[in-house]
Amino acid sequence: MFSYRHGFHAGNHADVLKHITLIALLQHLTQKDTSLTVIDTHAGAGLYRLDGDYANQSGEADEGILRLLKQKTEDETITAYRAMIAQFNSGNTLSQDTKVYPGSPFITQKLLRYDDRLRLFEMHPNDYRALEGNVEQLRVNRQVAVKREDGFESLKSLLPPPKSATGSRRALVLIDPSYEIKTDYQKVELAIQDALKRFATGCYAVWYPIIPRQEAHGLPRRLKTLASQAGKPFLHATLNVGGTGLDMDAVGTFAAHRTGNVSRGLSASGMCIINPPHTLKATLDAALPELVRYLGRGKGQGFTVD
Ligand code: SAM
Repeated sequence: MFSYRHGFHAGNHADVLKHITLIALLQHLTQKDTSLTVIDTHAGAGLYRLDGDYANQSGEADEGILRLLKQKTEDETITAYRAMIAQFNSGNTLSQDTKVYPGSPFITQKLLRYDDRLRLFEMHPNDYRALEGNVEQLRVNRQVAVKREDGFESLKSLLPPPKSATGSRRALVLIDPSYEIKTDYQKVELAIQDALKRFATGCYAVWYPIIPRQEAHGLPRRLKTLASQAGKPFLHATLNVGGTGLDMDAVGTFAAHRTGNVSRGLSASGMCIINPPHTLKATLDAALPELVRYLGRGKGQGFTVD
């Protein structure tokens, strides 16, 4: 049913944007002394080999995280991201020693406190099995739960999140679909619309590809409209590494790229955040120019945060 495998794309520039944003969100949200529920609706396998067949075949990490690790940076969030990856690689930040790349579940788990909870959903049978096995190794018992369920549907049952000991409810929801089927764009929109009704104060982070496809192009505008209808703030950040651009296949689908058949395919992606922490804009304004400098491939490269 699903042909998309994140292993081809782990550590590419889109992951870099997504995971740096995720770290910035979690760093802020875990400062408050009340527990947090994190829901990752499209979790992937959790851990990826950068020296394995998938990564070697696509070469995407070489132009993403592995290139970033060769650079010096003083940016705090990029430094935290590098340190995070080092924790999965015997403490090394040197690119040649980086063999394992953590996906969103593992980046999140590293930043959680004892009372925080992580709820993961993954539909692909192989990635689900890998995720379940990887999470078992963490031995964190009830803090992390993994289910082979549709993340869009299951989100409904988790909102609003349970009350913390102080009586407040806090949640971060990451929605990171493969967009393998074009209905994913509408599903994201419906999921956000429904989630805002159930829990308007949650922080919602959505990744999307910037490709010449109407559904993708319109998604940030539609999410911004949903946020403003709910009276909530919205932030939109994009990273474009420029260069060759997307080699759309004849039928104009994103699937070829997403299955790893089109190397260097995607050149830009974005993150939409509803209820962003007040610190997020400044954090991304500082980090994204460095990402463009280090990952940029030429014509069209750039970033936006607004
Ligand atoms: N969030 C992960 C990360 O940052 O490391 C990457 C996730 S990848 C882009 C999207 C994943 O969603 C794929 O592993 C795919 O199998 C899975 N998937 C696709 N449709 C799904 C659905 N309806 N519910 C849950 N998972 C789904």
